[in-house]
Amino acid sequence: MTSALEILQSRFGFDRFRLQQQAIIDTLTSGGDALVLMPTGGGKSICYQIPAILRAGTGIVISPLIALMQDQVDALAQNGIAAAFLNSSQGLDAQQSIRRRLLAGELDLLYVAPERAVGDDFLELLGRCELALIAIDEAHCVSQWGHDFRPDYRELYRLHERFPDVPRIALTATADGRTLREIEQQLQLEDAARYIHSFDRPNIFYRIAQGDGGRQRLWDFIGERHPRDAGIVYCLSRKNTEAVAEFLAARGRVALPYHAGLDKATRAEHQRRFLRDDGVIIVATIAFGMGIDKPDVRFVAHLGLPKNIESYYQETGRAGRDGEPADAWLIYGLQDIVKLRQMMQLSDADEAYKRVLHQKMEALLGLCEQTGCRRQALLGYFGETLAEPCGHCDNCVEPPATWDATEAAQMALSCVYRTGQRFGAAYVIDVLLGNERDRILQNRHHELSTFGIGELDADEWRSLFRQLIARGYLRSDERHGGLSLAPASKPLLAGAERLELRRFDKRKRTARPAKAAAPADLAAADQPLFEALREQRRAWAEQQAVPPYVILHDKTLRAICAERPQSSDALALVPGIGASKLERYGDKLLEIVRRNPVASSESEVEAID
Ligand code: ADP
Ligand code: ZN
Repeated sequence: MTSALEILQSRFGFDRFRLQQQAIIDTLTSGGDALVLMPTGGGKSICYQIPAILRAGTGIVISPLIALMQDQVDALAQNGIAAAFLNSSQGLDAQQSIRRRLLAGELDLLYVAPERAVGDDFLELLGRCELALIAIDEAHCVSQWGHDFRPDYRELYRLHERFPDVPRIALTATADGRTLREIEQQLQLEDAARYIHSFDRPNIFYRIAQGDGGRQRLWDFIGERHPRDAGIVYCLSRKNTEAVAEFLAARGRVALPYHAGLDKATRAEHQRRFLRDDGVIIVATIAFGMGIDKPDVRFVAHLGLPKNIESYYQETGRAGRDGEPADAWLIYGLQDIVKLRQMMQLSDADEAYKRVLHQKMEALLGLCEQTGCRRQALLGYFGETLAEPCGHCDNCVEPPATWDATEAAQMALSCVYRTGQRFGAAYVIDVLLGNERDRILQNRHHELSTFGIGELDADEWRSLFRQLIARGYLRSDERHGGLSLAPASKPLLAGAERLELRRFDKRKRTARPAKAAAPADLAAADQPLFEALREQRRAWAEQQAVPPYVILHDKTLRAICAERPQSSDALALVPGIGASKLERYGDKLLEIVRRNPVASSESEVEAID
């Protein structure tokens, strides 16, 4: 009998298992059940695909994301594995033919949506064939408390009742302890072996910046770090997604808006181009993302604050699913914090609910303003401890300077007080700066002792106000945005408490310093080969009407550039090239490598020509 490792190598083209893949596969292959929590991009699919191939019969995969089934089946076909899906997007003929293939025992894997999986028809159909296993993907959809709740998931125990001897595996990337227990109970998986992995996404570099001019700084970041890469930019409003998409397009990037206000056809077209074309940027509200499985999203940027840390982690988690270096980049300003605080006050939810919202918001602001390792804070929020600072986030790479802001904060607070606690930050800052604006003169606020006090400039005052609001010393009125003192400001004003704050970063730079450059950045000498490979991949993808990453991953192209294989045997050793891809694409790839030799010096280029 072939071993799991042989299949990994020959069919998928990878040389070793990752994390606990091997153990999970062994559990299923020998007939046991498994519950798997693995981060996005960790390699969950293989955990059921390989046992489905090893065991007799067909593996049934329950997946809530109809849009993804096609990609998964296409990707399996590229590796020479027989898979199909059944869902409502297909015509009756197509469904009939798949039923026939299923009954004939020709399929290793069959993907179905949850609502279909528990229908009597389908159960009856399954009763007539041999089942290798049942895989329940995105198992957190079973949780009533999560945002992806799918009632049909609660019916899935029926599959188990009907086929008690078929091994099952439930998989998710987003579950806290409570959700895991819910999955176990609802799916009757109490006896399943648990494989719980860290939430960490080590390939993602986290950066959170404060200040104004977000759009320009976004462009600096994209221009410097991702001049050709695909990415997602999240904005808070529909209007803003369109404006930012235009802004990026005017700078020569393909950037497409995506939000719930666009008609269905436009949305589908933009999503399709994001998936199928290389290097497209989607500028979206949170309406975009669920079910986006594109592995080579190289950055996720937020213009403005996400809803809470859970959303932030889920949204940034869409970057770098292929395990290659990726960036999570966020910028927010004073207005964001004011808006968030106001929303909190306005919400007419009951008190208990508000309290939870409030805690979540505090946690998010804490993450943004903190001066220590972001990854430690993020993982800590999900109940995981990272012993050492990660060395791969903005605060680790450039530890932020702090300053004793006590005196300046006292000036700011007392200026808010003396101007009557009814003006917004812009006005109060003008007073602090000593700007003789008409309104200020009318209000005789130029006569206050806090007029023109202190040594900060406008940017520094704004940074200070942002942090005072973020930390709850100042409150902002829900209707007019007027600032007032919160009870927490008392000890500070009274001199009973000191305040240490992040220093305002004048450089407004977003790029990371050279020493932290992404390890997988291509050497300049490899660029022409990489582009040639990419071009060929695009052509193959077009011919077969599949996304480029279904053909070959970026990682594989990069490895070809690094290894420069000269023979079919050498090419077979490149990760992601299994027997099936070697046969289909090998000759052409080798030819491209030969046509694009390394240009290490000018004379060498001439010699080769
Ligand atoms: P998940 O579903 O956990 O987000 P996938 O199953 O889509 O992740 O796998 C993520 C990527 O990792 C895929 O490109 C997959 O081919 C690759 N991968 C999975 N297992 C391995 C392995 N053992 N070695 C190398 N790459 C792997
Ligand atoms: Zn860190």
